[in-house]
Amino acid sequence: MAERRHDLYLLTPGPLTVAPEVKAEMLRDRSPNAELHRELTEEVRRYLLDICNGVETHECVPIQGSATYAIEAGLQTLMPRDGRLLVIQNGFYGLRLRELAEGLGLDVKTLELPMLPLPTRADVERAIADDPAITHILLCHAETGTGVLNPVDEIAAVARERGVKLFVDAVASFGGFPIDVAALDAEAVFVSPNKCLESVPGIAMVIARRTALEAAAGRSASVVLDLHAQWRYFEEVGWWRWTPPTHVVAALARACERHRREGGTAKRLERYRRNWRRLVDGLRGRGFRTLLPDDAAAPIIATFHDPDDPDYTFEALYEALERRDIVIFPGRLTATGTFRIGVMGDLVESDMDVVLAAMDEALAEIGVAKSPRPAGPQGAAP
Ligand SMILES: *Cc1c(COP(=O)(O)O)cnc(C)c1O
Repeated sequence: MAERRHDLYLLTPGPLTVAPEVKAEMLRDRSPNAELHRELTEEVRRYLLDICNGVETHECVPIQGSATYAIEAGLQTLMPRDGRLLVIQNGFYGLRLRELAEGLGLDVKTLELPMLPLPTRADVERAIADDPAITHILLCHAETGTGVLNPVDEIAAVARERGVKLFVDAVASFGGFPIDVAALDAEAVFVSPNKCLESVPGIAMVIARRTALEAAAGRSASVVLDLHAQWRYFEEVGWWRWTPPTHVVAALARACERHRREGGTAKRLERYRRNWRRLVDGLRGRGFRTLLPDDAAAPIIATFHDPDDPDYTFEALYEALERRDIVIFPGRLTATGTFRIGVMGDLVESDMDVVLAAMDEALAEIGVAKSPRPAGPQGAAP
């Protein structure tokens, strides 16, 4: 029997199961004016630029709020008003990006694609050729609504060749998947502390091209979500505009230190892959089918079809697992009839064994039979 390492397992797309040493940073009050605390913010900004090869070309601008706040701040500050934005939508978060951009009143064109096959270079080339007014592309990298990992390098290559600028929602992927903002030539990348960076929610970051920020002075229609003003304040005053999220910054600084200690993005991805493999193989062995073939899946979250059993409801399974202090997530509206289990956070393979054992108990409790099938290649979604 694998040993339980956490009181509560949050197997969601965030917030996640956070390591005790990260949470412990929040037990201390810190003066917002203390040099030490200013340094924590600087340390975080530097580290995040460092791991995405952005030191020469980009700036890291943290902002209070959840990741969507950073996306909104980034889009409405960096997007020229005479520009036209192509949103690539092949899942729930693509849909959210589109709604956000439309809600801001930007000039938006949507490239609506099925969940699979993955968007290709040809799809994007065609969309740009059909609509030469397009100046920017917005892509969600790890689509946690379905679990799809979109081919960001391929789409960035098209953008570069066509002279179109690229925004990436890397909220769920940053810190867990290689992202090189210089190689991608990204205009901006949106980042969350509480996904692959394994810290707590409360702030988010935009990694923006320095020249794009410089050109954005005075463009923001919002005062608090003015990314340029936020950046200048960090640069000139050395501090956060408005009340600094002291506890959250301290936690993130520790989480960055843990990321570095683990061996950075590559090692973190290896751990997630091991977790994901153990979970997916374990549930396949219990008769569950994944929504995606393995080669399209981001190994940070696994999406499973509901079992074909008259006694199954998601609510019943959710509650049976919740009684065991394990939290899973329902499918998103673009993938109904599924449920999702995340493997990000302070989790290792033995935690997956804890989850699988709890799953066995939960299924027995709600009267859903396991029907083991040989694990094999999975077909695409019906
Ligand atoms: C979690 C997530 C977000 C951010 O959502 P918030 O609710 O604002 O934290 C955005 N995009 C993706 C792909 C995500 O997984």
